Amino acid sequence: MRKIRLFFIVCLIIISAHISVNAAEYKDVLRVGLSYGGSAKATASFSSNADIDIYNVNTEEYIATIDPGTTFTLNAREAMVQCDYFESVTDVVRIESTDTIFYNGKEYRGAFEVRNNGDLLRVINIVKMDDYLASLLGKEMSASWPIEALKAQAVCARNYAITIGGKHSSYGFDICAEQHCQVYGGVSSEAVSTRRAVRETQGVVVTYEDEIVPLYYFSCDGGYTENSEDVWTAALGYLRGKKDIYENPQYATRYNWSVTFTKEQIEDILYKKNKSVGELLDVVIEEKSENNGVIKLTFIGTEGETSITKSSVRSYFNLYSNTFTIERHKNEAEEEETAYPTLNVLTGSGISEIEKPSYVLSSNGLYEISYDAEEEEKIEEGFDSYTLNGHGWGHLVGMSQWGAYSMAVEGYSYKDILNFYFTDIEIAQNVVVEEEDKTEFVTDNEVEIEEPTEEELDAEAESEEFEETENDGNDDIQWSDTGL
Ligand SMILES: [Zn+2]
Repeated sequence: MRKIRLFFIVCLIIISAHISVNAAEYKDVLRVGLSYGGSAKATASFSSNADIDIYNVNTEEYIATIDPGTTFTLNAREAMVQCDYFESVTDVVRIESTDTIFYNGKEYRGAFEVRNNGDLLRVINIVKMDDYLASLLGKEMSASWPIEALKAQAVCARNYAITIGGKHSSYGFDICAEQHCQVYGGVSSEAVSTRRAVRETQGVVVTYEDEIVPLYYFSCDGGYTENSEDVWTAALGYLRGKKDIYENPQYATRYNWSVTFTKEQIEDILYKKNKSVGELLDVVIEEKSENNGVIKLTFIGTEGETSITKSSVRSYFNLYSNTFTIERHKNEAEEEETAYPTLNVLTGSGISEIEKPSYVLSSNGLYEISYDAEEEEKIEEGFDSYTLNGHGWGHLVGMSQWGAYSMAVEGYSYKDILNFYFTDIEIAQNVVVEEEDKTEFVTDNEVEIEEPTEEELDAEAESEEFEETENDGNDDIQWSDTGL
């Protein structure tokens, strides 16, 4: 047992004797950045249905108590956090209540820390891991999804939250609440089912080679997942691409997709990225991964050629995934004039048009009208538009959320799901967190939550309309910067 900075003691009881998890790795409380950097504002309002106590974070001294039901506004002013309800004494305050706290009208569990940073307020929600996860599941999946899929997602998100440290350390928190990290929405996205999924996977972490590892996920793979090195850089043994025999196209969104770009649209995108090739003549997939993802895409133009690789392909063209084939088109009128010149031969019954592949007998012998010759001519002229026919939504590394949904519908457990999408992992149901000291801030303010019955769960699943979000799991272009 050892003390960690958040004043919790983490005690590991090894149930699976061969799995060893470093206690210091485990996090029971997360600091979630709600407002920072570009999203920071000069004011922030708070209220609660119980007393709110305000503390000076620097000195740990008590500052004030705000009555239940009173909304108060914090202002960033003169390098301090100021408020009409108390004397300003510090640049950073902590806000606690025994009930949930409303920040700008939105309800959250846990405590808040508000800091004046350049006369803008950085707002951090300090929340228990399980409360964080119960909210996240309603955002990253949907409360109406099968329970085993929600449980697989809970484990992925816990692993990720534990291992992500450093991505936002310069801002003083562990993880942001947006798609850049994982989507978290406070109390409003919790449900009976998401609470149950968290409870039934409490303390479960996934290890690979005895380390807790980040478990990546995405919406839909369209048939194949990808190797980590084919999407990012590092080849990680637990992130191996594979044929997905479970993901069901009937459920999955964007299992197949198609998008068409005109030549001008592509020229415009390349120009804006300082990669202009003049007039665009052709777009060629130069390199593919073993699981069909486009690794290198080359653009050929009148002034040269340029290539983009991996995640740039998705981000430049705002594609659902990197897995696609290209159909090249010429406008019909032009095709008749230039791409497919008509050849005629004189036959016994008059002049007749010949079809390819064909040969004509000329004075020099048999002459082949070759496909390649036509192709070269088309490339010289250039194509007018390109249709990308693709599969999947996201970076396709790790767990497919729609695949997890499909497996859960088929009766597989969350462990089956994790073991399918991640290679050579161990699932350690062995991390027990004990509170020894009272924390310096109140996070244990959740209202009483009753155990749900199966009937309640079914009713909830029926009543909830599944909202398809743009959420791509952990996917975001920033993921290419995570050191993988
Ligand atoms: Zn983030």
